[in-house]
Amino acid sequence: MFTDHPAAFPAREIADVLTPATADEVAGIVRSGRRALHPISTGYNWGLGSGLPVGDGATVLDLSGLDRVRALDLERGYAVVEPGVTQGRLAELLRGTTRIFNLTGSSLRTSIIGNALERGVGVHRARAEDLVGLEVVLANGEREHVGWWPGTSAVPRTHGLGPTLTHLFTQSSFAVVTAAVVRLLPRPEEVRVLPFTFAPDDLADAIDVLRSWTAQRLVPPTTKVYNPLAATANGVQDSYLAHVCLSGAGEMVEALGSVLTEAARNSPLVAAPASAADEVVRRAYAGEPDPADTWFLRKSQGCPADRFDAERGLLMFLPIVPFSGEAVTLTEKLVRDCCASAPGITMNVLDSDTLDHVIGLGFAADDPAAAEEARETLDRLHQAFAAEGFLPYRRDVDRPVAATALQARIGRALDPDGVFAAGRYAAER
Ligand SMILES: Cc1cc2nc3c(=O)[nH]c(=O)nc-3n(C[C@H](O)[C@H](O)[C@H](O)COP(=O)(O)OP(=O)(O)OC[C@H]3O[C@@H](n4cnc5c(N)ncnc54)[C@H](O)[C@@H]3O)c2cc1C
Repeated sequence: MFTDHPAAFPAREIADVLTPATADEVAGIVRSGRRALHPISTGYNWGLGSGLPVGDGATVLDLSGLDRVRALDLERGYAVVEPGVTQGRLAELLRGTTRIFNLTGSSLRTSIIGNALERGVGVHRARAEDLVGLEVVLANGEREHVGWWPGTSAVPRTHGLGPTLTHLFTQSSFAVVTAAVVRLLPRPEEVRVLPFTFAPDDLADAIDVLRSWTAQRLVPPTTKVYNPLAATANGVQDSYLAHVCLSGAGEMVEALGSVLTEAARNSPLVAAPASAADEVVRRAYAGEPDPADTWFLRKSQGCPADRFDAERGLLMFLPIVPFSGEAVTLTEKLVRDCCASAPGITMNVLDSDTLDHVIGLGFAADDPAAAEEARETLDRLHQAFAAEGFLPYRRDVDRPVAATALQARIGRALDPDGVFAAGRYAAER
């Protein structure tokens, strides 16, 4: 739901908020001559501006009312969803079936489409990898399908024949997305999350061990590493915590679990009590819906999704860092140099060379001085990390990234009259 007051960002002047309920209504609004439209799905892009547009004067197109699951095919493994369909809703529909959906660590009330268009990160893989097709309403009001759609070929494929157009519309403001085709994962026979802790002094060595486990496929590229502050949400004090997820056939999970427990004995990683990766965590990896949203509430200190913007101050910095002990040690130093107090950090393994860092700067939502201080800290982080080439994979509404010449040409060709508001990516036309 659109809210115009996330505490971390200066307010924008909003011309109007429109709440269409069908793709036809969206096309009608686009053709009506209204300018400039800023589409959102559920508007829970916390830490990056939530539902706010970049500039003043935009009309927000709140698409949470387009909430149909248009198709669900368990055999071929896809769902066709509209912007208002939440990840919790899809997980609920898949309960007890042969399929699961790749959930994120955010609230189950967040959307599938908004997150995929942001190229967010699920617990099993990047959401961009789940996405195989989009229905877009272009600036001239035409509705088009790009990528794979049911009824084209028998197997959902990310890349069909010829130029792939799907990702022209992710991290872009070239169209309104009114539906998406997302792939479903096979439901694993067993899901086990192994918790390992390690001491802050062992950071570099522990990260190198996790990298080698990932590179040699002892573990899938889905490990999450929490710094000592973030680890407290799992009941761990004064240590880093790694969650290693094993999933698949029961015998394989059992065998790999034994191999890892043995391998950890010769490393700084210490097998932690099961309470450090409890049933709530396991269920998120297993794609099981939790109507109480417990995993999110732990991280938000009990604040539910619909009150988050009003009650929590949060800025997010999301740099991509090489997966190596040396780079992560440097990252920690940069954070220490930039931040007056240690922020919570989660590192998401994306592959055996790549770690996405989630650095959350939290502050009291009703304290403008604290908000200003957090913004200054974020500016320092951006500068310090950019100097090392550790650039964020997502941007906030106060720091849009300029378009390249080719992106700007494509933008002008698709939307010559500026029907859509300039977004956070490829911002200049
Ligand atoms: C505790 C916590 C944990 C989190 N964990 C994760 C995590 O594990 N992984 C992760 O990725 N994020 C995470 N987040 C961040 C955030 O909550 C999610 O990324 C969330 O899914 C984004 O909000 P949304 O789905 O409502 O998207 P929206 O806010 O609706 O959309 C995001 C952006 O996409 C564009 N957009 C949306 N819909 C459309 C459309 N229909 N047409 C065209 N453009 C559109 C707009 O630019 C919009 O600003 C976390 C946040 C918190 C506070």
